[in-house]
Amino acid sequence: MRSDRDHPERPVAEAAQTEADFPWLAAAIDLSRQCPPSASAFSVGAVLVAADGSVIATGYSRERDPHDHAEEVALARAAAAPPDGETPGEAARRLAKATIYSSLEPCLRRLSRPRSCCELIVAAGIRRVVLAWLEPPLFVPGGGARWLREQGVTVAELPELAAEARAVNAHLLAG
Ligand SMILES: [Zn+2]
Repeated sequence: MRSDRDHPERPVAEAAQTEADFPWLAAAIDLSRQCPPSASAFSVGAVLVAADGSVIATGYSRERDPHDHAEEVALARAAAAPPDGETPGEAARRLAKATIYSSLEPCLRRLSRPRSCCELIVAAGIRRVVLAWLEPPLFVPGGGARWLREQGVTVAELPELAAEARAVNAHLLAG
């Protein structure tokens, strides 16, 4: 369907980070500090931001339920509470231009629920993901960023913020 599928090396420009990405990703990391502690799951924060710079929704791991993932919470909120008067078509167009910022690479596989965050992001029509830290294969294999790119989603990694995102999860990584 997408002609760019044949060109995996494509547009650096499209994937390029913008100045706005740093504060939004830092905000996602801040959210990850609010996660209820867990010995068996990462603490992650996510912020879904519209093209005009307004926040559509936020989420963090275990925010509403012990199995919640950050991106999942943000996407569920965005779907549940569109702005007053927004039609489904307008909502879809807004999400298509939105960026989701996540402190950790969105999961491709998960143990707790059938749909991974990568699948939820694609299903929501989101075309751009910015992340701080690639998921270490501690609980499930990573690979989310690569899979998202294969689906035509632009993925930007800001490794400058990886240490900070990782530090929130230091208790899982010790030893
Ligand atoms: Zn997830």
